[in-house]
Amino acid sequence: MSSWDDDLQTELTRLQRQGLLRETRPVSNAVYPVLTAEGRRLVNFSSNNYLGLAGDPRIIAAEEAAANRGAGSAASRLIIGHDERTEALEREIAEWKGAESALLFANGYMANLGILSALLTPSDAVFSDQLNHASIIDGIRLSGAEKYIYRHNDPDHLEALLKQADRKGMKRKLIVTDTVFSMDGDQAPLVELVELKQRYGAALMVDEAHGGGVYGPQGQGVVHQLGIDKMVDLQMGTFSKAFGVYGAYVAADRNWIRFLLNRCRSLIYTTGLPPAVIGGIQAALSLVRDGSRLRQQLFQNSSRFRQRLQEGGFSVPADPSPILPVVIGNTQETLQFSKALLDGGIHALAIRPPTVAPGAARIRFSFMANHDSKDLDRCAEQVIRLGRSMGLQNMAG
Ligand SMILES: *Cc1c(COP(=O)(O)O)cnc(C)c1O
Repeated sequence: MSSWDDDLQTELTRLQRQGLLRETRPVSNAVYPVLTAEGRRLVNFSSNNYLGLAGDPRIIAAEEAAANRGAGSAASRLIIGHDERTEALEREIAEWKGAESALLFANGYMANLGILSALLTPSDAVFSDQLNHASIIDGIRLSGAEKYIYRHNDPDHLEALLKQADRKGMKRKLIVTDTVFSMDGDQAPLVELVELKQRYGAALMVDEAHGGGVYGPQGQGVVHQLGIDKMVDLQMGTFSKAFGVYGAYVAADRNWIRFLLNRCRSLIYTTGLPPAVIGGIQAALSLVRDGSRLRQQLFQNSSRFRQRLQEGGFSVPADPSPILPVVIGNTQETLQFSKALLDGGIHALAIRPPTVAPGAARIRFSFMANHDSKDLDRCAEQVIRLGRSMGLQNMAG
């Protein structure tokens, strides 16, 4: 027997002991506000399906219709080409984002990995928020660029690092950030980042994975909500969260896109998205663009639940966001709380290190436009009751 078996067993045992072991479980109806697990109905606070579109019959029908064009796309787009639908979709994404060009990717992870490793070389400097998504971190690692990690949402620290890179004579600088942070629901200080990018001659890339569909007049994202989209060099986003489908994009000036098409290994060396997914994204994009009503419902639901928890003594951030972190701190205590919530009919999973910093374990509640307000009230009450009975730190009194 190789030493691998023993080592794997040791590591798995350690994870189990520390409450860090991850496992997958079967659930059904995960695309709806109430899902079913082990025969039990649970109110779903665990998805990124903010607008409820993953279960939308119009998108599902569009996917079925598009599947008639083929089960798969047969090769990389650079080898076999792409169908007219893909071409039309990229044009529509560019138009929606107010950019010259757009490029589709298989998913957000591959988009970030490909974009960052294509653009950055070891002689470039990259400035990355400490809480950026793993796909950004991995893209930066793969590029070998000189990396400067700034404290979360701290423009002063970023500026100090920009100065430091200038003193070292680094010529090309790229600032990269999530617009909405997935585990906290807070937003990057984008106006300040644009000012810094201009002052220091850097480029700026934003990841709208959690902002797309949710913010902006047509769901374009946070930078459109703020009216600063023209100052951003690369707008990346996904179709897997509020859009409810799969896939990702980057929108930028034509030459940036042409360069990426020639250099992104995660685009060149992978099969194009299947027709059903292209059809689904097209339908979802149209619903997102006309989705003001859904966005309004989403924010109403989020603030309703937030307010109930505050009234019940929880300290929770007040910002309007589809994501609500209830930080517990201790990992084991967070797991116990999550388990108690499950027993009480609430599916809101514990987020543990290394997804969040040690000592910052939390329950992450995410909201949906089609959550039922009675379910929300009942769940908020339940959360408060359980929090009290467990004597959580996070609660006043
Ligand atoms: C989810 C997420 C991704 C990855 O997107 P997928 O399409 O799921 O691969 C990238 N960046 C951020 C900020 C995300 O939240």
